[in-house]
Amino acid sequence: MSKSNKEEGVFYHIKRENIDMYNFLRPQDITEKLHIVKEEAHGEREVEERLMKRENIDERKENENIDDSEKYREKERKYILKEIRFYSSLPNYTPRNIYNKINTIMVNRFKYEIPYINSCSLCNINIVHTIHYDNSMRIDNKPIVFMTPGNAIDNSKYYLVQHLIIELDKCIEDIINIDIDTTKFSIVFNFENYTLGKMIKDMGLAYELSLILHDLYYDRVEYIYLIDAPLFMTPMLSMMKKMFKNSIYKKIVRISKYDYEGLINYT
Ligand SMILES: [Zn+2]
Repeated sequence: MSKSNKEEGVFYHIKRENIDMYNFLRPQDITEKLHIVKEEAHGEREVEERLMKRENIDERKENENIDDSEKYREKERKYILKEIRFYSSLPNYTPRNIYNKINTIMVNRFKYEIPYINSCSLCNINIVHTIHYDNSMRIDNKPIVFMTPGNAIDNSKYYLVQHLIIELDKCIEDIINIDIDTTKFSIVFNFENYTLGKMIKDMGLAYELSLILHDLYYDRVEYIYLIDAPLFMTPMLSMMKKMFKNSIYKKIVRISKYDYEGLINYT
């Protein structure tokens, strides 16, 4: 199946299974439909009046809000369309699998409010997380997203995942727009200053992060580097490995800070 054919196959499933998703991703089809309805309507004037009334309602809303939400909506739409293109290029995905994947991605992005914001709700006020994408570094030509779990001030699951998704969005945006020969990125967890007490508190968080990375980014992750991961983490890692049936945990590489620094390329 050719790539564009596969993409059409994906839209076939989306249209059949989830019309809201379809209308979100292909709004031009709604406009077309509206024209048909308008032409077919006997009381053409009535339709026209109704449309005018709607325009008035829309105008009454605060203009700024409309602009912003439209902008975010459009950004989200573009992101999802690019992900559909990406998964369509992977030979092991059928249109039906891609539909399911995209569904999972969209449900989670809405859960973490990604389509309504462009920065982490907490760090917006005060920087509490240590997650960041730095576009000046690469490992093996792949962009990297960093986290230093020992230095984070706030570790509530919800906002941490929200922050991670936003940074990964920036990274994926670069993968798509900058001409680097990759579809993947790596994640680096720097375990400097990490204590046993922190690890025990972070267990639930580690599970949540693994779930997100596994469900939303499995095919985009090259490696997950754990820098100077303390020995006390070993049992937790093997437990997670079993929970996730190896999958995302297969991509984990434990590495020393010294060896890691040898891998970095500065662009
Ligand atoms: Zn944050």
